[in-house]
Amino acid sequence: MVLLLLEVKAELESITNLVPKGGSDGSEYTFFFKIKCGGCGTVSDKETSVTPSELYDIPKSKGSANLVQKCKFCDKQGNITVVPGRDKPYTFEDSESGKFVPIGCFDCRGIETVEFSFRDGWAAEGLTGTKFVDIDLSDGEWSEYDEKAAASVGILNLEHRFVVTK
Ligand SMILES: [Zn+2]
Repeated sequence: MVLLLLEVKAELESITNLVPKGGSDGSEYTFFFKIKCGGCGTVSDKETSVTPSELYDIPKSKGSANLVQKCKFCDKQGNITVVPGRDKPYTFEDSESGKFVPIGCFDCRGIETVEFSFRDGWAAEGLTGTKFVDIDLSDGEWSEYDEKAAASVGILNLEHRFVVTK
């Protein structure tokens, strides 16, 4: 098994505390990424979704995971579970210092997460405290107007990486 931290980096313009929150309708945030087989190294063509509250039984085991998948090529089966409590909001200060910050953590067995897709369901706060919800990062950037600050806010130059942790 390997524990992978999903770390992101972004340029935040007059905005802070960027988090994968889910929709304003109460829907949970869903992670999308491609899957790499630990057996043959094949990376899936399509992105797979992982939702922390959705649990699936692991065949031939009493355990469950947020994703159970079998490789199309070598038939090796693997699973992934979201590990809570390892994530932090991405702040304006992080952005200023160009830091990567973990926003998710995954316990990967037999398969691994690669190529994260930001998509929608993000939330953040203007430096004035204005709340922004339903932020869609599918285009790799986002901008809006903060009435309280009478200035534009934005998210640019999104990057991500998966880092092995303990
Ligand atoms: Zn495989």
